[in-house]
Order: sequence, then C-alpha cells, then structure tokens
Amino acid sequence: MTPQDSHDAEAGAAGTAHTGDGAARAAHTGVGAASDATPLDTVSPGSRRPTESAVRIGLVLPDVMGTYGDDGNSLVLRQRLRWRGHDAEIVRITLDDEVPDSCDLYTVGGGEDAAQKLASRHLSGSPGLQRAVERGAPVLAICAGMQVFGEWFVVSDGSRAPGLELLDITTSPQATRSIGELVVEPQLAGLSQPLTGFENHMGATVLGPDAAPLGRVVSGVGNGVPGTASAVSGTAAGADAGQRVEGVVQGSIIATYMHGPALARNPELADLLLCRALGVDSLPPVDIPAVERLRRERMAAARR
Ligand code: GLN
Repeated sequence: MTPQDSHDAEAGAAGTAHTGDGAARAAHTGVGAASDATPLDTVSPGSRRPTESAVRIGLVLPDVMGTYGDDGNSLVLRQRLRWRGHDAEIVRITLDDEVPDSCDLYTVGGGEDAAQKLASRHLSGSPGLQRAVERGAPVLAICAGMQVFGEWFVVSDGSRAPGLELLDITTSPQATRSIGELVVEPQLAGLSQPLTGFENHMGATVLGPDAAPLGRVVSGVGNGVPGTASAVSGTAAGADAGQRVEGVVQGSIIATYMHGPALARNPELADLLLCRALGVDSLPPVDIPAVERLRRERMAAARR
C-alpha cells in the first residue's frame, strides 16, 4: 500500500463511520487492519496460560487497530522471547472480548479515525488495560493507539472524542498530513540507538507536564503542531528538525507515531519492553543482520 493509498483508505473507512460500528469495522478489515482470521497463531483472552512462566503479550484490538503492519510488534516480541528460551504467546483481544488485565505486556496499533473512536469506546467500557497500566505492565502504543490513550483527540471531521486519560496528551489535526520516514534520537534511559519508523498521521499531539517525549526528531515531523503547516513534509530533514519531539513516555507506556512495524526496525526498543515485562536488566543479544540492513536502508531513505 502506498502512503496515498492508505490516506485514501482512511478517508473511505472514515466515511462509513456514520453507518454504525459493524460497517466501520468491516471497512477496516478491508483496508489493512488484521482480519478475523488468526494469521499470527494467537490465543483468545479466555484461554489458560500454557505454563506458569509463559509470557502473555496482549494484542489490543487488532480487528480495528492494526494498520500498516503494527500487529507485527507482537510477533517481534514473541519471537525475541522464544529466541531467549521463554515460552510466549499472543493474546488477541478483539471488540468481542472483555479486555484482560492479566497480560504481561500489551501492544496497540494505529488506525483510521473511525476505528480509533470504536477502540476508545471499547477500552473505556472494559478497562482491563487501565488496570494493567496501574500495576505497571509495559504497553507500546502506536499512532492512533497513542492518541486514544490521551485526554481527548480531534479527528479530521472536527469532532472531538474522549480518550482513556492514560497519557497527559491531547491530539488535534495538523494543517497537512505527515507522511514519510522518521528518525528519532531517543531520550529514554536504556535506549542509545536512533529510532526509525514510518509516520502517516493527520493528528498533532501536544504533551502536558506529566508526559515526556520519547525522543528528538532528527528527520520527519513526529508529534507535529496542531493546525499549522508542518515545517517538514515527506521525508526531508528540515532545519528545525531538532526542535521537534516524537512520541510519549509516561509510567509504563511508551507511545510513538512510528509504524514499520516499529519493533521490527528497533530491536533495542523491543528488548527494553521485554526487560520491563520480565523484570530483568538485560537479555542475551540476538544478532539479525537483516534487521541491521533494514535500519541502515530506512535511515538512508530518510535523508534523501
Ligand atoms: N487517524 C489518526 C491520524 O491520522 C491516526 C493514524 C494512524 O494511526 N496511522 O492522526
């Protein structure tokens, strides 16, 4: 899917929202969000932990929040656990499920405007994720996932929806959509390597005093500025890129505009989440030359 296609898909999906949840959901399954099939070999929230030590990764609402391959973040986490000899499984939490509070960590993907309204409603009506955050379970939220965790978000048609109030952020539209490669210098202890991702969002996210940025933008837009033309569009690095910030860190939540999926491109971030979930300081290294090649290639693309 090209960025323009995904933009068009977003417009199309958002246009079905007024016909009700079913239609919006159907539209989303047709535009790149995961379908009701279980291609990731997942388990349902009601299933029993296979062994006492098995790590359970909650994949939150992939039926509506899984655009641009963000479901892959849960796959990366599971695989990196298995490579280290841990039992691990992905718990697929859909709109049909109560949200369990018992997972060891959670991932939430991006989504179109209509999808994120559905997600926000479901997650506030079934507050298992909020309970998990309260006890400090690590959570990775991408793009619309990040916006939904905030105080409120305004979508492209101007309507304002309440968020889950897990993050001290608000989101409202920029003047133009930000689409392109993003490179970020992390500002979170435990991360030393540049972060790489692909951003595609209309929303600009403003941080309140309780939220810290994930990093400083080296190339791309990042959190953006509400209602103004972005100083940078596409993939070019702007003169003031260093002034901009990207993502949000608050408590056990790490949120970012980076698709990719983000954890496939940023193994250091994946392992940081896993260390937190396992309560360890470090994990044995895994060396994947293809990931290093991908990182180099995408960061070079950002500079073009
Ligand atoms: N609908 C949101 C926006 O455009 C989020 C998009 C996304 O998750 N990619 O800002």
